[in-house]
Amino acid sequence: MVARANSQIEVEATVAEITKGNVQNVIEDVDVVVDGQDNWKTRCIVNDYCMTDNIPFVHAGVYALHGQITTIVPGKGPCLRCIFPKDPPEPEKILVLGATPALCASLQVMETVKLVTGIGSPLVGRTLFANGREMAFETVEVKRNVECPVCGNL
Ligand SMILES: [Zn+2]
Repeated sequence: MVARANSQIEVEATVAEITKGNVQNVIEDVDVVVDGQDNWKTRCIVNDYCMTDNIPFVHAGVYALHGQITTIVPGKGPCLRCIFPKDPPEPEKILVLGATPALCASLQVMETVKLVTGIGSPLVGRTLFANGREMAFETVEVKRNVECPVCGNL
């Protein structure tokens, strides 16, 4: 669909479970990664690879009526491991209202367009929290951890 709308865009679909062993094959040579992961373990594998291969990474996570979005640009702001040094608990089931990932995905697209075109101010060094229950949006500053095991040396 995207490639039909714009012949300048190259789309390559891959169906695979991302592991440390195949992450390079799945996402190498891309301009930006948009995080649609449903678990923290995979998200960290992608984060770590993006940091070492200098690939921008637009993260979103959802729970119930809440979402969070941040944009990671290696060398310019914190990575996911700076923001979340310890893995959050992985609940067996997560109840999510469909509108929550739809909202976050739209915001991720906006962030991706901003990264690719260079317009606006991406959420680098900031995390947007969307609270659908109260319909409140808050952006908080997030800092790079110079001792981060993933990006501390970049
Ligand atoms: Zn980091």
